[in-house]
Formats: sequence, C-alpha cells, structure tokens
Amino acid sequence: MKPQLIAIDGPVAVGKSSVGSLLARRLGYVFFDTGMMYRAFTWKVLKSGISPKDEDKICQLANTTKFDFAPIKSGWCLSPLIDDKDISSKLLHPEIEERVSLISRIAGIRQVLVSEQRKLAQRGKVVMAGRDIGTVVLPWAELKIFLTASTEERARRRYKELLERGENTSLETVLADLKKRDEIDINRTISPLKPAEDAIIIDTENFSLEQVIDKTYALAVNL
Ligand code: C5P
Repeated sequence: MKPQLIAIDGPVAVGKSSVGSLLARRLGYVFFDTGMMYRAFTWKVLKSGISPKDEDKICQLANTTKFDFAPIKSGWCLSPLIDDKDISSKLLHPEIEERVSLISRIAGIRQVLVSEQRKLAQRGKVVMAGRDIGTVVLPWAELKIFLTASTEERARRRYKELLERGENTSLETVLADLKKRDEIDINRTISPLKPAEDAIIIDTENFSLEQVIDKTYALAVNL
C-alpha cells in the first residue's frame, strides 16, 4: 500500500522542493513546501514594521494571521496563502532569505505553523518538505526521507538556479548565506534540522534529479 504521507527533510538547497514536487506528481499526490510558509510569514513580519527582536509581538501577529493553501502548477503543488494572498513571487527576496531562519526559531511561531501544516496533512496523499516534517510535524508519516549533499554542491546548485532566474550574485555569497542559515537551523533548540530516527537518508551528491526521484518513488511504491 502506498504511504498517505511522505516527509522530505534536509538542509538548504538540497533539492527537497524539486524532488518532492516531482515525486508528488508521479504519485498523484499534492506537494507542499513548508519553507515557503515560513518565508510568507517572514514577509508579513517585515511588512508590519515589528522589530525582528520583538518575539511577543511577532507571535501575536502569527496568531492573528490567516494561513491557507492554494493549488498552483495544475493543482498538484500548493502555495501558502497569507491573509488570503498568494505572495509566492516575493518569497525568494534576499531580505526574506536573511531573516527567515531567525523568525523560524521562535517557538510560538512554530506552534502556529505546525498546527496548520498538520491540518493540511489530514487530507492524505501529501508530500511535505521542510526541516522538521519527519521529526515534529508528521512523525507518523509512513515514509520519511532525509536528503543530503555537501555544502559546496548545494551552493553550486542554488547559484545556478539564481543565475537562471537572472539574479546578480556570486558563488561565495550563496555559499556564505547557505552556511549561515544551515547553522541556525541545525543549532536551534526547537525542532532543529535533523533526520528522524526512522528516516531514509539519501545522499544526492552524485545523482541527477531524475535518479533521486526514481529512488524515492521506488521507496514509496515498495513500502
Ligand atoms: O526550505 P527553505 O530554504 O525555503 O526554508 C526557509 C527557512 O525556513 C529555513 O532556513 C528554516 O529556517 C525555515 N524552515 C523551518 N522549518 C521548516 C521549513 C523551513 O524552520 N519545516
């Protein structure tokens, strides 16, 4: 029997979203990248003018925010809605990139977002990507995958992606940003980035995207 819930976790730019969305399409499931939800809320914090250090006010803001999900890409990928708005096109902005890990380590924020992510999972047939899906959000997921690759390889992948998108950056900047974010995500007290004990770890370093999708698909259908 195919799993109802598939968790895909891993560090920055390891390919969670590419693997997760294409795996979901092949399985006929929906895909949701929880990183986009943390980014969407970070966008709201920045727009609100609240000091990033004022955790109480940030938590209050989370509690009065409406979170939802909307289908994109012919329906199988879900985008986070914040107060009924889809702001996905703004979420890769460097300012958000710089702040998101600092906002995501606040316990009260995680509580609100995790609860919304669990509601989404109740629909079943969901592939969900993030940092803590297998450990905290959906520890009952039948299949948990943790993707890895060296820091240098991940920086190269992200750099290529940014160049293709027309962004003006350098490999050194991308590498430094990636290391900074990984360090915060790995060392935070609440829901740090780590594989669940029963996660299957896939080193993607020397494999193409198609090969990684084939591996994950085989795991899902042979469970
Ligand atoms: O996956 P992405 O790089 O878009 O995630 C942005 C940030 O959101 C991460 O660096 C992390 O701080 C936070 N995040 C998280 N928990 C998740 C997903 C993302 O803390 N499940």
